[in-house]
Amino acid sequence: MTDKPRRFPLSLSSVVEKPGPAARRAGEGASRQTAARNAAQHGLRDAHVPVAAKAATVHASGQAVPPTRSASPANSTSTAKTAAAPAGALAAPLVSEGVRRAMVERVAKQGVRDAKVLAAMLEVQRHLFMEPALSSQAYIDASLPIGYHQTISQPYIVARMIEVMRDNRNGGAMDRVLEIGTGCGYQAAVLSLVAKEVFSIERIKPLHELAKSNLRPMRIANIRLHYGDGMLGLPQAAPFDGIILAAAGIEVPQALLDQLAIGGRLVAPVGARHQVLQLVERTGQAEWISTTLESCHFVPLRSGTV
Ligand code: SAH
Repeated sequence: MTDKPRRFPLSLSSVVEKPGPAARRAGEGASRQTAARNAAQHGLRDAHVPVAAKAATVHASGQAVPPTRSASPANSTSTAKTAAAPAGALAAPLVSEGVRRAMVERVAKQGVRDAKVLAAMLEVQRHLFMEPALSSQAYIDASLPIGYHQTISQPYIVARMIEVMRDNRNGGAMDRVLEIGTGCGYQAAVLSLVAKEVFSIERIKPLHELAKSNLRPMRIANIRLHYGDGMLGLPQAAPFDGIILAAAGIEVPQALLDQLAIGGRLVAPVGARHQVLQLVERTGQAEWISTTLESCHFVPLRSGTV
C-alpha cells in the first residue's frame, strides 16, 4: 500500500511492485487450506492435485437450522465504491495468463465444473492481490498470508464455494451477494464476475484498506466494501441471493441466515479444529436446510472490529 493518492488506470507494475505494509509478513509461507494436499511445496509444475472429491467427506445432513431470530444492528460502515470505468486490470494485462490457465485447469480437475466460475477465475489476476514477495506463488494451490494472521483463500476453495452458491434454482443468476471476510479482496473480485452486486465486509481496518487499494485500480463497478463485523451481516442491503463466509465460526450467525433471500444459498466453513464446508439454503420464511459438504480449513470468524 502507498500513502500517495493514485491515478487511474495504474500500470501493472505500479500495482505489483507496491511496497507492502509493514505488518504484512512476506516471510510467511503458503499453507494448506483444505483437506486436499496442495502443491505449495512442489511448485507449479507439480501443481496438479486430484483432491477435493477424494478428500471430501460428503454427506447430506439435511439438518434444519433453528429459526431463532435476532435483531441485527447495522454495521458502522465506510462504503468504498470502486470507480466505474470501461476496462481495467481485471481484463487488460495478460502477464500470467499461462499460469492462471494452469491454475484453472487444476481447479477443474479438482472437481469444479461451473464454467462461469472457471472463467471468472481465469480473468482475475490473483497475483495483483499479493505482496510482491509472494506473487510468484500466487497461482499455486494454497492459501497465502496477507498479514494480520489472515490468508488469501486457496484457489480451489474460492471456486468451490462460489460454485456451490451459484447452484440455485435460477440457473446461477444472482443479484446480490454478500461476502464475510474481504481480506485482500480477491474473492470479491471473482464474485463480481458472477453476481450483479457484491457486498463484502472486513473487520480488520488495514485489510479493508488493503482490499480497497487492491481493487481500486481494477475499476470494478459492482463491489461495495464495508468495514464492520460481518457476523451482523449488512441488513441495509439484504436480502442476499448468496452469502459466502471466508472465515470459520462454530455456527453460522443467525443474522446472516435472516439476511438470506428465500431460495438463497449461504456457504460457510463451520467448526473449530475440524471444519467442514456447509451449505445452508433458505427454503421459507422460517426454514433453512443445511448440508455438510467437505472438510476445509479457514481462519476463524471473530466478532467485533479491529
Ligand atoms: N476472501 C478473502 C479471504 C480472507 S481470509 C480473500 O479472498 O482474500 C478471511 C477474512 O475474514 C480475514 O481477513 C478476517 O479478518 C475476516 N473476518 C473474520 N471474522 C470476520 C467478521 N466477523 N467480519 C468480517 N470479516 C471477518
